[in-house]
Amino acid sequence: MPNTLITYEIDLEVDGKQTGFLRVPHSVHRSAYGWIPVPIVSIKNSDGPTVLLTAGNHGDEYEGQIALTKLCRDLKAEDLRSQVIILTMTNFPAALAGQRNSPIDDGNLNRTFPGNPLGTPTEAIADYIEDVLLPRCDYLIDLHSGGTSLVYPPTLLRGRGHTAAETNRLEKLQDAFDLPFAWVFTSGGGPQSTARTLMGAANRKAVTSVMAELGGGGSVSPRILAMAERGLRRILHSLAMLPAYEADAARGTRELNALGCVYAYESGLFEPFKEIGDNVAVSEVVGIIQHPDTPWRAPTPVTCPYDGMVLCTRALAQVRRGDAVYQMRRTPYNVVLPCCDWLKS
Ligand SMILES: [Zn+2]
Repeated sequence: MPNTLITYEIDLEVDGKQTGFLRVPHSVHRSAYGWIPVPIVSIKNSDGPTVLLTAGNHGDEYEGQIALTKLCRDLKAEDLRSQVIILTMTNFPAALAGQRNSPIDDGNLNRTFPGNPLGTPTEAIADYIEDVLLPRCDYLIDLHSGGTSLVYPPTLLRGRGHTAAETNRLEKLQDAFDLPFAWVFTSGGGPQSTARTLMGAANRKAVTSVMAELGGGGSVSPRILAMAERGLRRILHSLAMLPAYEADAARGTRELNALGCVYAYESGLFEPFKEIGDNVAVSEVVGIIQHPDTPWRAPTPVTCPYDGMVLCTRALAQVRRGDAVYQMRRTPYNVVLPCCDWLKS
């Protein structure tokens, strides 16, 4: 039996649209018997696969929060088969503050699983999701973005699958989401996963899961938001949960292999030379760090240790040693990806 102290206001067994809050006990100076209200929506119509949709796992990632908020309002139970459970602000205190981590306990929810039912609010939320919600689910779609510090093009992230059947389900989700890029992990996953992420929790509970990076920089792109909304409906349709939805033609997803990040080794202001989708040669100077605090000092060049394509860029100009300024992906040499066109138009 789950050991959680979190109570809930909705009945996940009941058909129809149920709305309310998970109550995370939080006794503080201004509210001795108070609780943190994590919004939860269940939309259910008959039995079948259950899909958990999450956003606000990191509080400063907004595209998913908006896409799921709109889905909560738009999706009618009569249009649906089986069940979706939606958490729009999964780490509510972080999402309320617009910060990656919770200001209450500095908890980074996506580094906290499996959590602790008797721990801090972030630990208790992680435990509730892993021990109460995930065991009743078949699929998890966890929506992220680059947050305040990074910007990603729309990219699906997934494991390779540990069985042929799981691989098939993951590929089906990827095809249905139909984002321009997919980052397929080469290792990890499976029921023995020790990952502290929500995807790790899903793996431990045999829940088929993908996540998505959808823009970032603390803002919302209408184009990326539209891709997210379309992808969510396409996924539900592909699982036979939205029978009346008419999916348009797939645009195609390019799978890319991870190479790693390019890091700043000095403090200052990063002047980037590259944008998302640009190809980079190994040892190429991809930007310089300017030093306005010592303006007569020569800027510090930043070189790329990889031959590949820029997938993710830093959104903040200020850098310190250890900050990632780019994330790189392997691409076929000198191939211009057609799916990058939208980024440059
Ligand atoms: Zn995130």
